[in-house]
Amino acid sequence: MEHDVTFQDLNLNTPLYNAIDDLGFVKPTPIQSEAFNVVASGKDVVGIAQTGTGKTFAYMLPILRNLKYSRQENPRVLVLVPTRELVVQVVEEIEKLSKYINNRILGVYGGTNINTQKQAVAQGTDIIVATPGRLYDLAVSRVLQLKSIQKLVIDEVDVMLDLGFRHQLMNIFDILPERRQNIMFSATMTEDVDELITNFFINPQRVTVAVTGTPLENIIQQRYEVKNFYTKVNLLEHVLFDKATFNKVLIFVSNKKMADRLFEKLEDIFPGNCCVIHSNKTQNYRLRSIEAFESGEHRILIATDVMARGLDIDNVSHVINFDTPKYPENYMHRIGRTGRAENSGTSIVFSTEDEQDYIEAIENYMNLKIALIEFPEEVTVSTELIEEERPQIKEHYNPLKRNKDDYEPGAAFHEKKEKNKKTNQGGSYRREIAKKYKKPKTRGDKNYNKKKKRK
Ligand code: AMP
Repeated sequence: MEHDVTFQDLNLNTPLYNAIDDLGFVKPTPIQSEAFNVVASGKDVVGIAQTGTGKTFAYMLPILRNLKYSRQENPRVLVLVPTRELVVQVVEEIEKLSKYINNRILGVYGGTNINTQKQAVAQGTDIIVATPGRLYDLAVSRVLQLKSIQKLVIDEVDVMLDLGFRHQLMNIFDILPERRQNIMFSATMTEDVDELITNFFINPQRVTVAVTGTPLENIIQQRYEVKNFYTKVNLLEHVLFDKATFNKVLIFVSNKKMADRLFEKLEDIFPGNCCVIHSNKTQNYRLRSIEAFESGEHRILIATDVMARGLDIDNVSHVINFDTPKYPENYMHRIGRTGRAENSGTSIVFSTEDEQDYIEAIENYMNLKIALIEFPEEVTVSTELIEEERPQIKEHYNPLKRNKDDYEPGAAFHEKKEKNKKTNQGGSYRREIAKKYKKPKTRGDKNYNKKKKRK
């Protein structure tokens, strides 16, 4: 659907139209017009959209449109979100849309008195918005019955998995009815998100909106082909040396481990210039890092995709993709952090041979080629490899462990020498005694002792 879709084009109803009028919304956002029919169709849906794109209404409009009035106590719609702030925010949004609808919405989250929430649940609800841990506790206590859930929405699933909620999600899936619609929204695609979709979704329809928020013309895009991690560090050192040009640099890496590893290296090279954010850092640490970067105190910020999703920082001179994102949407999101507000910015992507397929996917997605820059001669190509780059060795040599093949006579098999043919049957003393006296006789043998006495 095109962007000039109006709310009238979506098949809403009068209470929803009235609520939207009251809110003063003029037209649906792109994700709302894209997602409406897909969510309404009842199929599993994966939406890629960031906060601020109107994603909450993108899933709630079709859900509310189709939710019939009911007096039953058990909820029919479950919305899972990663944080309590988001529970509050999503409940507020749903309430705004439900102004002229007679429905019951309840938000529950951890860190507060569970008994109060149990009482609220017991009063009956149609839509429950929850953090995973608290939802599970309520379900286990049997106050909350999930057997009527028809629609499961998981919002900000990338953050949820990044915070380590996978196990809790699995537990919840286990107690939900199998026949349900799964609707998932994520700002970024990650391996974890991909795995979750593959394992739990049935032929999901994908809904994506362009996520840069920045016209591509404002961004100069370049790429280098680089051998490995250490060579990438050398190249990074080379380019970042030009402090005047590279004055506000956002470096993206795909995971926390890499973020820490790179931070350590860059701190060595440019002491006091760098900061880092990822989900294992405390909220305070992350806020301080972002502030230091924003104010220019530190010119380099290293971030993972998931953590950088909400970043809205002006005048980023360069985005450096230290690795090539596997999912083109992530690349779009990364590069959109520069070239904002009519400024121009530069994006540089480093890619190894293994990452060439991802480059192709990104170029196809944008329908645009990224300019290849020749690898600078003066940069040292390292031959040292990090753990992940080394060829995988399945198991270390273990002389005590034998596998099946060792026992099967192969080319080197020959008859054992006579002395080696003996087998160990254990208990040699007892065998000797038995040979001598026919029966085992030990002091502990009750019958032997009895017989002896009788004699
Ligand atoms: P979200 O991406 O769901 O966090 O929404 C971001 C903000 O956009 C919220 O404050 C919504 O109330 C607002 N919003 C949602 N849909 C629209 C729309 N169609 N027009 C204008 N604002 C909207």
